[in-house]
Amino acid sequence: MSKLTEHSRQLLSLDASWEVSEVSLSLEEKRVEITLVHRGGRVMCPECDTRCSIADHGPERMWRHLDTMQFETLLRARTPRSKCKTCGVKTTTVPWAGKHSRFTLMFEAFAIEILPACGNVKSAAGLLDLDWDSVHSMMKRAVERGLLCRDLESLQYVGIDEKSFCRGHSYVSILTDLTDHRVLEVVEDRTEEATDKLWACVLTTGSPTSKKVKSRRSPSTCGLPLPIRSKRMFRKQTLCMIDFLSANISMKESTKCVAKSEGFNGRIQSIKSQARGFRVFTNYRTRILFNCGKLKVIPTEISH
Ligand SMILES: [Zn+2]
Repeated sequence: MSKLTEHSRQLLSLDASWEVSEVSLSLEEKRVEITLVHRGGRVMCPECDTRCSIADHGPERMWRHLDTMQFETLLRARTPRSKCKTCGVKTTTVPWAGKHSRFTLMFEAFAIEILPACGNVKSAAGLLDLDWDSVHSMMKRAVERGLLCRDLESLQYVGIDEKSFCRGHSYVSILTDLTDHRVLEVVEDRTEEATDKLWACVLTTGSPTSKKVKSRRSPSTCGLPLPIRSKRMFRKQTLCMIDFLSANISMKESTKCVAKSEGFNGRIQSIKSQARGFRVFTNYRTRILFNCGKLKVIPTEISH
């Protein structure tokens, strides 16, 4: 192994099961390509985490990595496929990228860090030399990753508010953590069903043995008539505040909490302006949770 290929392996933080077989430079295309070969004997089954033998290697794939100087850098490799006695033949995950991603974790982390500074996806895409869809997918994966490891154990006061969406009279409902000042969930409409969807988000999160989780109850199970709850909340344009850790769940309008909600409204309005509006609800939700959800959006494998 040459010094260059060994240095490349170390820079990518790869263990001995992966070897850099070639580093090629194209001055014309301003591109560096690093070819990786799997040398390990056994792999983990991606379905059941059992160590098993290798069935074969999948077709060659490429991942965009952080630039080397001003040169676009790509990783190239054939992913080993595990031969699991229980699950059959499965494509394993590679240590440098998430499943189905065309970018390395380091590249995604870089893109995620510059996104807030760029203001909108289009500007970030221009800076990263990518298309809009690629950057949006990275943001979507980041939100999904963050939601999976989100901690709601200390959640006490939540607020439910509405926000206009699209042109016309479309609305979304937003659930916020009033103590930690973060958006917890966004759903379409401002109906009773929408409120129940928001509740499902906090009622289904957390450890099942947690006393706090056990004590959480939705407004419908603690005697608050849902139609009244919805009408009161939305007709008066005030924030609904609920303490679901106390024995008696109550709902009240609170000036202090309305003020806190105004802070979210300003940020969400700014997100809408920077994106020049949203036509698709899921994009709107992703953008709000990415910017206001206080989620751990950087891949955990490289965030330490
Ligand atoms: Zn398996």
